[in-house]
Amino acid sequence: MLAVRDLGKRYGSQVALEGVSFDVLPGQIFGLLGPNGSGKTTTLTCALGLLRHSSGSVHILGHPSERIFETRGRVAVVFDTPVLLRNHTILQNLTYGARLRNQTKGRGPKEVLELVGLSGLEKRKASDLSLGQMRRLSIALALAGSPEFLVLDEPLAGLDPIGVREVMALLGRLRHEGLTLMVSSHRLFEMERLLTHAAVLIEGRLAALGSIEELLGAGGRVRVEVDDLEKTLGLAQQHAWKVLAQRDQELTLDAGISPQEVNRKLVQAGVGVERLAPARSSLPDLFEQLVDAREDSP
Ligand code: ADP
Repeated sequence: MLAVRDLGKRYGSQVALEGVSFDVLPGQIFGLLGPNGSGKTTTLTCALGLLRHSSGSVHILGHPSERIFETRGRVAVVFDTPVLLRNHTILQNLTYGARLRNQTKGRGPKEVLELVGLSGLEKRKASDLSLGQMRRLSIALALAGSPEFLVLDEPLAGLDPIGVREVMALLGRLRHEGLTLMVSSHRLFEMERLLTHAAVLIEGRLAALGSIEELLGAGGRVRVEVDDLEKTLGLAQQHAWKVLAQRDQELTLDAGISPQEVNRKLVQAGVGVERLAPARSSLPDLFEQLVDAREDSP
């Protein structure tokens, strides 16, 4: 769907992106994550051919990004600020949108409204909608026709908790519609539940890339339940394993080695292992580690 190779972008003398490479494959829900100013919007706008990159290449559905028009309705975009005809109804927004795009096939107003959960509100004026509903109407407009690749820039920006819940539920549903999604966001907690894959940008460079399982499973974290806590803590000290959490006889360790190796070392030391499993990290934890690592590097 998207192939980004060694992408670089300068604004004058300021380097906004450098050496960024990643792919978005069909069926993925791909997150472009990073703190503010890390280059997410620049990457998205370069990918959509709205901004000329300084180096590298971007192909979207097989076309160079500057020729995105050749994808003809197969790519849809939702920007963070809803662009709606505020004095017109939901239905009018959808019918005018379809006319503007000369849309003759694919999903019509009824179908997209059902998909975004706004059925029954056809006659409501856009200006009378909550921000969450406006965001869903923007997504409905993007889904009209037959897009295969939906790009969303900060879809949760500015929403209250109810709006966040509504939009998250909708994005989760789209996963089952056979759409490929690319989402930029700094809302890590929500993204962890939605994404299948992610790229983390920090200061314009790729700091991590992979499936969510790879990103959060990596790092040699294990959760163990043991019969001898004291001996286990001694072993942790001996091997410089970090104790991340401790509750009764259960420890979460960052050992930097595989769960099997941790198990072997515990058993060899005569510790009875009741339970041992890889401990998933979280996106906020991963993020913190990456930011710390970047700050520590010269
Ligand atoms: P994000 O979307 O992650 O917040 P951006 O892609 O907007 O990050 O910005 C990346 C970097 O490029 C930032 O340092 C930002 O200040 C800079 N930048 C973005 N747009 C412009 C612009 N039009 N002119 C100059 N610098 C810009």
